Amino acid sequence: MPPEPSSTRRRVLIGGTAALGVAALTGVATPTEPRDGLFSLGVASGDPWPDGVVLWTRLAPEPFAPDGGMPDRGVPVEWQVAADDRFATVVRSGVAVAQSSEAHSVHVEVSGLRPRADYFYRFRVGGELSAVGRTRTAPAPDARVERFAFAFASCQRYTDGFYTAYGHLAREDLDLVVFLGDYIYEGGSQGRIGRGHRPARDVFSLADYRIRFAQYKSDPDLRAAHAAFPWVAVYDDHEVENNWAGDNSDSGMPPPAFRSRRANAFQAYWEHLPLRTRPSGSAWRIHRRLAFGDLIDFQVLDTRQYRSDQVPEAQRENPGRTMLGAEQKAWLFGNLAAGRARWNVLAQQVFFSQLNPPPGAGTHSDDAWDNYAAERNEVRDRLASVRNPVVITGDAHSSFVCDIKADFDEPQSRTVGTEFVGTSITSDGDGGDHAPGDEALLGVNPHIRFVNRKRGYVSCTVTPDSWVAVYRTLDFVSRLGSPVCDQARFEIGAV
Ligand code: FE
Ligand code: CA
Repeated sequence: MPPEPSSTRRRVLIGGTAALGVAALTGVATPTEPRDGLFSLGVASGDPWPDGVVLWTRLAPEPFAPDGGMPDRGVPVEWQVAADDRFATVVRSGVAVAQSSEAHSVHVEVSGLRPRADYFYRFRVGGELSAVGRTRTAPAPDARVERFAFAFASCQRYTDGFYTAYGHLAREDLDLVVFLGDYIYEGGSQGRIGRGHRPARDVFSLADYRIRFAQYKSDPDLRAAHAAFPWVAVYDDHEVENNWAGDNSDSGMPPPAFRSRRANAFQAYWEHLPLRTRPSGSAWRIHRRLAFGDLIDFQVLDTRQYRSDQVPEAQRENPGRTMLGAEQKAWLFGNLAAGRARWNVLAQQVFFSQLNPPPGAGTHSDDAWDNYAAERNEVRDRLASVRNPVVITGDAHSSFVCDIKADFDEPQSRTVGTEFVGTSITSDGDGGDHAPGDEALLGVNPHIRFVNRKRGYVSCTVTPDSWVAVYRTLDFVSRLGSPVCDQARFEIGAV
């Protein structure tokens, strides 16, 4: 069981109650195949700036065909942005060409919009209209923001469950969704709930990655979550290959072959998400800063492309190994030094805080920051000098709340900030409140305030004075219709 929240050093978690109640949200979407037509994969928006967003769709009348059922030529796609959902007041419009070399995806960077305003958007080809999406621009750079609501999510292995969590998420009132990695999984697993992977093999080619993305987008609750809010998305490992590290494949591919696979994976990732930057072959500068007035800065990190290869336990504290790479680290530290926001967030993939294994229960994870301990501590020490740092994390397929300690081996040391680790949307299946070793795990990690092993997401409400994180969990994902439960609520007071 999680320990009672203890009191206070500098800035500490208040609260942490279990099972606050079950929301009466039901009736989540039911079909599991995409609807017919050109816009079968839905619409999306992302990377909101004060003056605009990226709008996305992909034409794919046959989403599981290698060419999506589209001809090998460019197709003009009309787009509209309106102030109202009936499109009475269209404020921006244009035509983008969906190219066959880009899987007939379109990425429209709309500008000239008002800050922190809601807009509706849609696409049209001939007589066919897409679904209507809703989006929201960011506040102006110096705007005083009194409230910002966002959810973060990660890890949606299709074969492990239905995306019911997104059906619930789509009904919240959010400014943003942040997705922290494992949007697809690259394996050929078939699972046990009738949602076997397409194609039924590991994916390597661009054609196969495209089919895999199309399959994930075939879940209507995922499409609903994209249509409801702008997203900020970044990949982790499974969008390419399990546990990849820089040019090092974990499955033994030689670096040139692995880079070719990564180029295919990156291309397909870009084709299916609303992003402002795109890959150049196997390279992609995807790390970026997103700012929301004077309230929050998000530093979105890439902890895959520039990292040193994983090493055995005995070498995990070696200096000189990197998770971020020199250039990204310099960029991050520059941003942190210059930042003026009330809350400073690292939006990143893998477990940041120390996570000691219980005695006799193996080693530290070789894929998380513990395997890059020297650089983790360097980043941690930088966070100690910024205002109200918060780290949000995916990958773990479990929920955790951690005090980031000035010295993780010294429980009495200062609490520098807070790490919120979100569970998976589906990966690892239904789950439960606790795993057998959790009590021992908490015993050797006194800085960890909370652990839970159900599926779901984290919904955060941020004000100048406080950050409230609600861990919203599902009873099950192996079939449709789970209610959502406010499993735990944590509040951080700002300083
Ligand atoms: Fe995952
Ligand atoms: Ca992962």
